[in-house]
Amino acid sequence: MLSVLDIFRIGIGPSSSHTVGPMRIARRFVRALAKRGLAGRTARVAVELQGSLALTGVGHGTVDATILGLAGFAPDRTDPDEAAAALAAIRQSGRLKLAGHEIAFDPGGDIDLAGHIIPDLHPNGMVLRAFDAAGAMLLEGTYFSTGGGFVASEAQLLRPPEDDRIRTGNEVPHPFGSAAELLAMCAEGGRDIAALVLANEDAMRSRAETEAGLDAIAGAMDACIDRGLTREGILPGGLKVHRRAPSLWRALQANPQSNEREQLFDWLNCYAMAVNEENAAGGRVVTAPTNGAAGIIPAVMRFYCESDGARCEAKRRIFLLTAGAIGLLYKQRASISGAEMGCQGEVGVACSMAAGGLAAVWGATPAQVACAAEIGMEHNLGLTCDPVAGLVQVPCIERNAIGAVKAVNAARLALHRSEAEACVSLDQVIETMRQTGLDMSTKYKETSQGGLAVNVIEC
Ligand code: SF4
Repeated sequence: MLSVLDIFRIGIGPSSSHTVGPMRIARRFVRALAKRGLAGRTARVAVELQGSLALTGVGHGTVDATILGLAGFAPDRTDPDEAAAALAAIRQSGRLKLAGHEIAFDPGGDIDLAGHIIPDLHPNGMVLRAFDAAGAMLLEGTYFSTGGGFVASEAQLLRPPEDDRIRTGNEVPHPFGSAAELLAMCAEGGRDIAALVLANEDAMRSRAETEAGLDAIAGAMDACIDRGLTREGILPGGLKVHRRAPSLWRALQANPQSNEREQLFDWLNCYAMAVNEENAAGGRVVTAPTNGAAGIIPAVMRFYCESDGARCEAKRRIFLLTAGAIGLLYKQRASISGAEMGCQGEVGVACSMAAGGLAAVWGATPAQVACAAEIGMEHNLGLTCDPVAGLVQVPCIERNAIGAVKAVNAARLALHRSEAEACVSLDQVIETMRQTGLDMSTKYKETSQGGLAVNVIEC
């Protein structure tokens, strides 16, 4: 089921692929055990984290997320403080409640970081096994965390796609599998991208539910910014990275600058860093389209979706529907996983989505929206993922600030360009990102084995 509401998932930090996805997978495995009536017979659960999930799993919170998923926590309903208390209790007692049945659990022994295993299907592999008291295996499951909080079983990834259109569980009136198809349908019906996508969403749920979902997403993004603007201190993980958003926020409040062009950068930087500092601290975040790139869309939306100084619901919905449609294209035609595409698949996609969303709010034509999204990606092509110490902090936090500013500039460039002048299409740049991602060395794909991760000395 692919909907714009699937692209924006409310969860917890620091990573959608390494925290949200593994938590959902562990939970899904326990549900499968319970469904087969095996939970009560289970005496031990063993988890193998493969590839990128192991190589950056400690810094990205994968181990903790897996434990929480086994204990029944769901990312969209998890309170970060409650989760921290549950983790501490499990670690201290060595006991975990699996679908209501208590078992012995040793995180060090029962979760294996198998970074040497790089699965062919996707670099974020997870194998879970349940055993009875005699050591006989009751159930085994292989899953993948495919980016942005999306998960798939081995069988699901092996299943060939029926066609290359965006597949949903419902018949939608305007199915599109490429930007070209999307633009053609907009031209045919004389409507903009947001209206077309909304008509598709109407086939999945009532209009009121979709609008409530979009408003909840915008509200969660705002709440994340607000928390990030006020929480001071050093981020967890040992890199001693200070939160910078609160001091920048105070400076903006106390000393309004006379140069508006400079001030624009400060506001966008401040909002984007507030989100990604919250994300790095394990706070509540919305995937946009991933956690590592979660600051760009909220920052641009907060700054520009206002009317008469107040937040404007209508503009925010247009922004999210348009940005969501662009995110669906990347998800369907390439990938939004840093472990597959490098950071171009996370920050690059977020920049592209934000550029398109903002252009739509500014009244751009569908072709100009696609052009903005294309520019937003074109100048992120080749961007590597090389997080220092495996944490989602350096370069991730600043990279979101830079991505937000870049998205606004991409929208401006698109608005000043005629359709005839565009020589790269959105479909072409998505395909270029996909090919570049496939060619990129695994050192630069969320493994912390190259780039800044090996050149910056951890203090
Ligand atoms: S470098 Fe980019 S892709 Fe890698 S963890 Fe940071 S934000 Fe995500």
